[in-house]
Amino acid sequence: MTIQWDEVTAETIRHLQALIRIPTVNPPGNETPAAEYLAEVLAAEGYDPVILESAPGRGNLIARYKGRGEAPPLLLLSHLDVVPVEIEKWTRDPFGGEIVDGFVWGRGALDMKYVAAMQLMTMLLLVRERVPLARDVIFAATADEEAGGVYGIGFLVDHHLEKIRAEYAMTEFGGFPITIGGKRVYLCQVAEKGACWVRMRARGTPGHGSVPHEDNAVVKLAEAVAKLGRKSLPFHRTDAVAGMIGGMADALGGLRGLVFRGLLNPVLSPLILRGLIRDPQQVHYLHALLHNTVSPTILQAGSKTNVIPSEAEAELDGRILPGQDLDSFLAEVRAIVGKGLEFEPIRVAPAVEADYRTPLFAAMVEGIRRHDPGVGVVPAIVTGGTDAKHLARAGIPCYGFSPVRLPPDMNLMQMVHGHDERVPVDGVAFGTRVLYEVVTDFCSRR
Ligand SMILES: [Zn+2]
Repeated sequence: MTIQWDEVTAETIRHLQALIRIPTVNPPGNETPAAEYLAEVLAAEGYDPVILESAPGRGNLIARYKGRGEAPPLLLLSHLDVVPVEIEKWTRDPFGGEIVDGFVWGRGALDMKYVAAMQLMTMLLLVRERVPLARDVIFAATADEEAGGVYGIGFLVDHHLEKIRAEYAMTEFGGFPITIGGKRVYLCQVAEKGACWVRMRARGTPGHGSVPHEDNAVVKLAEAVAKLGRKSLPFHRTDAVAGMIGGMADALGGLRGLVFRGLLNPVLSPLILRGLIRDPQQVHYLHALLHNTVSPTILQAGSKTNVIPSEAEAELDGRILPGQDLDSFLAEVRAIVGKGLEFEPIRVAPAVEADYRTPLFAAMVEGIRRHDPGVGVVPAIVTGGTDAKHLARAGIPCYGFSPVRLPPDMNLMQMVHGHDERVPVDGVAFGTRVLYEVVTDFCSRR
């Protein structure tokens, strides 16, 4: 039987609306009611879903479609929690799930309840169509991503790994288009930067403020912070970024493509970033893809105006590329600030990178191009952290694949976590079909 895609879209949108209307703002999360909604829908069609709570109200749903077991499973992962809203800044009720002008409005519409609805729909279509698959498909809808994922996928990896173990995972951040140089390019996340948050401390000789001397901790710290503001850490070329920039250069073509590709050359890169790209936001973003970065964010010293303190501290938000670690990051920071400062790690999370030269990634590219011919589809790295880091601990490579078509003037990045978050109905129609086809294509092969 052929699938009636209009009806499938209408059904996906109904599930999306229902999920938006179940508030799962984290903190506190309270994802269990949303997990229960999904469980009920799945159970009604013959699934045997389970909800595992990591703490009261922090529900994680898992359901499995059985294949022939000829290959390891594919994991479809969504998080059910959303970030808070400033309700007075919204044009519509953030928990209303209204459809206005072809968009579904609400907190989580993009991040990432539309994906949960599309993944649910994929599971429903698999049973309805009785699709024969070589491998299992696991659907996990989890808690707590927005606060680090410890009560969500982190909990499943630590305590229920056998229920979610897979060859690959697909989750958010990918399969959405951006426009560069008039060309549409879909980004699919394959990597994320890691975090090295550290405390930098200067020590000096205490004394009375009325008698200044050379060994003032505040001055030493301020000099170090200023140096970090002026100088960038060294250039690094990583596999994911090379794939991303190379793919974008291909899409641009011509001279502009050539210049763009030059960003991967350590000598040309600073010249292009400083001289040839006009939009400062783009420069900052591209710079962050090619370097470890450090942002001084918190300063602390002294308690009285007339007392020179014996120490001064700055907190640094360091972000590292795949292949880097705390030691290599600190070596780069020390080379800029010089001797005499102490460093103490506050929080360290490794960078994550999955190979994109795989059959699944190829299926993703093919799936998008089947419904949006001629577009570029490139691997991407994100500068923040996602649930991929928990899956990396379990050795499960993770792709951001949550396909959606967006109007050219829509800035997805601004709307995620922003006001008036919404997703276009026809974009979800596109995504639901692409996702289902990629999953069935890939999982029916061995
Ligand atoms: Zn998200």
